[in-house]
Amino acid sequence: MSEFTNTVEVEVRERRLQAILSYHGNAEDLLKKSNEGELKSINRTYSQCSSCAFSCSANSIVSVEDAVVIGHSPIGCSTQIPGRNVNVLAATGSWGMKPRGIRYISSNIEEKDTIYGAAEKLRTAIREADKRYHPKVIFIQSSCASGIIGEDLESIAGEMEQEVGYSIVPVYCEGFKSKIWASGFDASYHGILRKLVKAPKEKQKDLVNVFSFVGSDTFSKLLGKLGVRVNYMVTLNNLEEIEKMTEATCSATICETLSTYITNVLEKDYNVPNIVSPPPYGINWTDNWLREIAKFTGKSDIVEEVIKSEHERIRPRLEELRQQLQGKTIYVMSGQAFAYNLSNIAYDLGLKIVGVNQLHHDQHYDGDHRFNALESLVEKTGNIENISVCNLQPYEIIKVLKKLKPDILLARHRGITPLGTKLGIVSLLEGDSNSSIGYDGLISMGERLVEALQTQVLVDNFANHAQIPYSKWWLEEIEDPFYFEGGKTV
Ligand code: SF4
Repeated sequence: MSEFTNTVEVEVRERRLQAILSYHGNAEDLLKKSNEGELKSINRTYSQCSSCAFSCSANSIVSVEDAVVIGHSPIGCSTQIPGRNVNVLAATGSWGMKPRGIRYISSNIEEKDTIYGAAEKLRTAIREADKRYHPKVIFIQSSCASGIIGEDLESIAGEMEQEVGYSIVPVYCEGFKSKIWASGFDASYHGILRKLVKAPKEKQKDLVNVFSFVGSDTFSKLLGKLGVRVNYMVTLNNLEEIEKMTEATCSATICETLSTYITNVLEKDYNVPNIVSPPPYGINWTDNWLREIAKFTGKSDIVEEVIKSEHERIRPRLEELRQQLQGKTIYVMSGQAFAYNLSNIAYDLGLKIVGVNQLHHDQHYDGDHRFNALESLVEKTGNIENISVCNLQPYEIIKVLKKLKPDILLARHRGITPLGTKLGIVSLLEGDSNSSIGYDGLISMGERLVEALQTQVLVDNFANHAQIPYSKWWLEEIEDPFYFEGGKTV
């Protein structure tokens, strides 16, 4: 099921990857049960908040240089997207590009459109996008509303392509289809594969696809040590770069959750092999990752020397940081595979990992399972006693944090770190997924953690004045943070 078949839509993660939204146990158990595919998701009887695939699908496509994205949705769905403007503006600026924001239009489906149809609104939005921005490609995101009324995006896209003269790419990311919002990543990549990616004209031996989020340009420096070029995908690209991703010599990804769907298709259909290594977060994963890249790019003769000199270069500072962080405990909260990346770094910095929460869990990844980041993590750190799968439910996380009492909360998403602060836990936001890669990234993360720990007095002050908006019943009388899973009610 995981192979690209040029169907209109990609299968959602619940069915394709046996993804689940709840688990509470330990790392070895999670790994074993996932390998056997025996975990089942349990519904919460109370959900405080969530996101959806519509929002997630926008992450990559809104940053494409020549594109406009149209949300074929009520305006409420589309209000999730403009926040990405800040990321794209910041990244284009830091990459030395002309700073630019996102180009996004909502077709604004209203109640009456769900009865009489919203096709004309979509055509109007496409014409408006064409007139205002003269793009080279338009992406259309479907929403619950357009999905429920059965809007025929294929026909409208085909018809309007004739009118505007370039590709219009439907992205089927209706929120109701999947409880796993990461299904939105796959929906965007599927649209890109179907309608934009072309067969290679010539292979570029020194070019490596790196699938990542919009972030800082740290991979160029790391791979530059091997004399290899980075092809970031799909972030800030122009259309031509996307079309030519098949010319790269191999593909890597910052985490399996983000992009094993597309890297698997590139390997199977376009002979662009996947890197068989966990991503370059922490020392040994970076070493392995570089060795793999070197194999494909013909750099095996210099890679060991690069690794050795990098180890020597960072060793003194790493030792200092380890001493400063000695005895400290950390709780990691992030999307699935990225949580393993951050945990691997924390371990290399000498921190004790008291727990990990991941936002969902794919029991396997697309592809041929030649490596598994959780397995690699367990091999290195040993069992991690507390692993949870919880999709950003603050009322649950706050109880977990109160129980485990880590010195540091390391979180990948805004909105989580204030929970730690309110409890007197120093909290660090890892908003830029590229910032902690490689040897320099390890040092940078260590320095940021040491700096964060220096705010303890301030954090205590916040905690002394913060009000936690939950009842005494929930905070003190109920022991199980996951009480509302499995059918329990108040
Ligand atoms: S779940 Fe559906 S209605 Fe809600 S924001 Fe997502 S697409 Fe819109």
